Amino acid sequence: MNSDTAPLIFDGHNDFLLHLARGKITVEDAVYGTKSGQIDFLRARKGGFGGGFFALWVPSTTKGQANGDEAMTNARYDVPLPGLVSWEDAMKVVVDEIAALRALERTGKLKICTTADDLETTFHSEKTAAVMHLEGAEAIDPDFSTLEVLYAAGLRSLGPVWSRPTIFGHGVPFRFPSTGDTGPGLTEAGKELVRQCNRLKIMLDVSHLNEKGFNDLAALTDAPIVATHSNAHVISPHARNLTDRQLAMIAESDGMVGLNFATAFLRPDGRMSPDMPIEIMLRHLDHLMEKVGEDRVGFGSDFDGAIVPQAIGDVAGLPVLRREMRTHGYDEALLTKLCHQNWFRVLRKTWNP
Ligand SMILES: [Zn+2]
Repeated sequence: MNSDTAPLIFDGHNDFLLHLARGKITVEDAVYGTKSGQIDFLRARKGGFGGGFFALWVPSTTKGQANGDEAMTNARYDVPLPGLVSWEDAMKVVVDEIAALRALERTGKLKICTTADDLETTFHSEKTAAVMHLEGAEAIDPDFSTLEVLYAAGLRSLGPVWSRPTIFGHGVPFRFPSTGDTGPGLTEAGKELVRQCNRLKIMLDVSHLNEKGFNDLAALTDAPIVATHSNAHVISPHARNLTDRQLAMIAESDGMVGLNFATAFLRPDGRMSPDMPIEIMLRHLDHLMEKVGEDRVGFGSDFDGAIVPQAIGDVAGLPVLRREMRTHGYDEALLTKLCHQNWFRVLRKTWNP
């Protein structure tokens, strides 16, 4: 371990499992390395990536977001959101993604962690520490039977919506510039989902919720409010980012924000374009820390789900970020907090209140 790869990063969000479940890459690619995508175990080691939230995410079954990445290179955009995905369609994909995560576990390179002790022990071992996260709750039925089943399978974190609507609430569209106040709040089923997650100690993620949904969740939850992969709206006024008012509410709940590497949510001009200085990431970190405190900020890369700054490129590029943080004046204690300690703190508090 050297200063390039230490402190190890525990990361708030990636979409690696979708690539595996869709057969874009194989488990062998994951172990022995692949040129496609932004994550494999070889590059993870090179970058000092010790683990993170692995998202179960369901692609849309109707059109809408098809040309989203292209639209987001414009100066202004409002990408139309796709419609609801059915429980049946969602469940099939989620089951495939859980199977992919378990296949990774069988290689001996990764462990699905379900307790705070397990997470920290695994993270400091040779294995990648994975937290199973459901991004958008389409696979959850209104009676919450599948929530119990997914919990038993290892689920410990959940976002009620990805950006498209669910029976639980409404997400924000990929819109720039825009506030996050883009639609109605949580439905009654969504409010019950918050209570059920609190009961099971499943972490709730507000990252794709609109402002009213955020407020509804904040008013109800008895757990820290966590945005696994979102940035500062005052720097990049994207609908997906958090206003200072939301950041104050996160701080008050003793929650957490993971810095998203998606260039559209980092850049002040909102463009999904990789040609940008890393210095902008430091501006977000400084602002987030000013608003929520240095114990409540970490990373949520969105690797395999977004176009990230060119200088980082993929998970092997994380040493670039460590260097920039040191150059910017962050000391080793702060680096350790941002790289993993803060995530462990908030997960311990959520899982063992
Ligand atoms: Zn996301």
